Amino acid sequence: MVARTVTDTLQRPLRDLRISVTDRCNFRCVYCMPKEVFGRDFAFMPKNQLLSFEEITRLARIAMAHGVRKIRLTGGEPLLRKDIEELVRSLAALRTPDGQPPDLAMTTNGTALAQKAAALKDAGLDRVTVSLDSLDDGVFQSMNDVAYPVAKVLHAIDAAADAGLGPVKVNMVVKRGLNDHDVVAMARHFRGTGHIVRFIEYMDVGESNGWKMDQVVPSAEVVAGINAVFPLEPVAANYGGETSQRWKYKDGAGEIGVISSVTQAFCSGCTRARLSADGKLFTCLFATAGHDLRALLRGGATDAEVEDALAALWGARSDRYSELRGANTRAVHKVEMSYIGG
Ligand code: SAM
Ligand code: SF4
Ligand code: SF4
Repeated sequence: MVARTVTDTLQRPLRDLRISVTDRCNFRCVYCMPKEVFGRDFAFMPKNQLLSFEEITRLARIAMAHGVRKIRLTGGEPLLRKDIEELVRSLAALRTPDGQPPDLAMTTNGTALAQKAAALKDAGLDRVTVSLDSLDDGVFQSMNDVAYPVAKVLHAIDAAADAGLGPVKVNMVVKRGLNDHDVVAMARHFRGTGHIVRFIEYMDVGESNGWKMDQVVPSAEVVAGINAVFPLEPVAANYGGETSQRWKYKDGAGEIGVISSVTQAFCSGCTRARLSADGKLFTCLFATAGHDLRALLRGGATDAEVEDALAALWGARSDRYSELRGANTRAVHKVEMSYIGG
């Protein structure tokens, strides 16, 4: 395979691949898969439409030859995909053109993590991000909408760290009037533990969550609230294109991150492609359509043909939805995050 780095029309290279391994989830988070839309009769993808582990690994190998360094498994809930550790093992065995393994991470709601952490680490997973929106059981259970308790997620976070999957990042989506009063408690709880909480602005992904701008808590407000209790100072980004802005506690108790996709868009450094569970490549989280790579794979395309398709798709990319949000086309049909992969 020919190694080549592709850049898009805004000179952004392809560096990260987020792979959704299933569109199913055992939670019904109100901001992601609200029950009214994802009810009992919702039609999830049949198994034969999902990419197989071999197909995913083949696409990841080709993407790595074109610049991808970081791979994140997501969904839906990735740990619901049977034998997911086998996919982790195959991906961990891939190498960049200069012989490096991928930086391999997973985002999960944590429900199956305590059982799986050791197997995932053994298979080659480097790190996990666990989503947890509140430490208050009433609030968290109403947000996940399946009455799942906080304590079990906290246990999963500890199990992941014990298995060597740390430092664990903890994602909290902050929604005005729902869990914004829990921000400081969250910061307090995880200070000094080595885990890093990332406060995420509630985004207008998909069409089903009824997003409104006044439900977004700007990251600046989150930082000010924490800083008033636990003084913070900014930290330089780890690498270009990092989505999270880092802040550390002045007393040395660790750091937090804020992801300000709404109030401070970071499209200019966006190097991420997303692969849906049925093999469509999306060049933006807010895309309205993906490009069907599964059809190529199942139609017998050679590696060279798939490479050409990938390079052409990325080369034509001009997405910068978040930067244009104000002026944006709310009328277009955006795909759901549980499908495209968060
Ligand atoms: N099920 C896994 C989980 O929840 O961690 C992985 C998939 S989930 C779609 C990935 C991340 O997207 C989670 O941290 C979730 O909180 C976040 N997310 C989902 N909908 C969101 C929204 N509307 N705005 C901001 N973040 C969102
Ligand atoms: Fe499931 Fe994750 Fe979406 Fe919550 S955020 S509904 S856990 S996919
Ligand atoms: Fe990247 Fe699209 Fe998000 Fe901008 S809106 S940061 S281009 S995924």
